[in-house]
Amino acid sequence: MQIIHSYTEMQKLGTELFQHRLRLGLVPTMGYLHPGHISLLHALNGKCDLKATSIFINPKQFAPNEDYTSYPRDSQRDLELLEHNGCDIVFMPNEADMYPADFQTYVKVKQLSKKLCGKYRPGHFEGVTTIVLRLFQITRCSSAVFGLKDYQQALIIKRMTQDLNLGVELIFAPTIREADGLAMSSRNARLNPLHRQAAARIPQSLETARQMALNGEQSSQTIINIVREVITQDDHLIPQYIEIVDPETLKKRKRIDSKALLAVAVFAGGVRLIDNVIIGAEGTKEAITKLTK
Ligand code: AMP
Repeated sequence: MQIIHSYTEMQKLGTELFQHRLRLGLVPTMGYLHPGHISLLHALNGKCDLKATSIFINPKQFAPNEDYTSYPRDSQRDLELLEHNGCDIVFMPNEADMYPADFQTYVKVKQLSKKLCGKYRPGHFEGVTTIVLRLFQITRCSSAVFGLKDYQQALIIKRMTQDLNLGVELIFAPTIREADGLAMSSRNARLNPLHRQAAARIPQSLETARQMALNGEQSSQTIINIVREVITQDDHLIPQYIEIVDPETLKKRKRIDSKALLAVAVFAGGVRLIDNVIIGAEGTKEAITKLTK
C-alpha cells in the first residue's frame, strides 16, 4: 500500500494511471475508520483496477463552533485497517497544502445545500463539494463511493458530478450499523456510555416510522410526532430536526403517497448524530437493524 502526503505526487500518480487506462476508485473519508468506511472500499470491488482512500479532516466543512479540533484521529490504526482491506493507495494531504493562504475558490450546489443539515450548518456542504471536487481532480479517479448515511451529501455530490460533467462514476453504499441499529460514525467514539445507550433510540425511531408508513400511515406530521416521541423519551437526546422530504429535491413532503426520505439530526451530549431511512410504499421493506450486516 502506497501512502502519499503530497498532492503533487498524488496528481502525478493519478495522471500516470489515467494515461495507462488504469481505473482508480476513490473512497473519500475524514479518517478514524470503522466498518462503514471499509464497506465503501469493498463496494469498489470489480469497479476499478486500483483502490484509493483519502483521509483528510476538511476544516472548510466545519463551522467555527463545531467539532473540528475534537474530531477523533488515529492515522496508525486507519492505515493498518486499510492495508488489511485491500486498499492500494492512501492519500493523506496536510491542511497547509490543501488550503494555502491565497485559496479562494469554492463550488456550491445551490438548492440542495440549503435543505436539512444545510439549514443548521451554513457553509458545510460548500466545504464538502469543494474538497470532493478537488479530490476527484487530484486523483483523477474514475469512480468514487459515498455512504447513504450521509444521504444529503451523496445527493449533492451526485448533482455536482452531473452539473459539472465530472465523468466520475458514483457508487452509493448502504448504512452499516452497530448491533443495536445505531449508524456507525467516527463521532460515536465521542459518546459517553449514557449517550451511547440513548442513541439506539435514533434507529428505533426510524424503524417505527418505517413500520407506520408500511402500514399505510400517510401523514408526515403524524410520523414526525412519533419519531420525536421515541427520541425524546430519553432526556439525553435532543433532536435538531426531524423531516420527511422528497428523496430527490429534499423539499418537505406533507403526505407519504410515494417513497420519501425521513432524515434526522440529534444531539447526544455535545455530539451531533444523523441518520435517515427511505419510507413509504416503495421504501425499504427491510427492517433497519437488518441493514446492519
Ligand atoms: P466521513 O469519514 O464521516 O466523512 O465518511 C466518509 C464516507 O463514509 C462518507 O461517504 C460517509 O457517508 C461514509 N460512511 C460514514 N459512516 C458510514 C456508515 N455507517 N455506513 C456506510 N457509510 C458510511
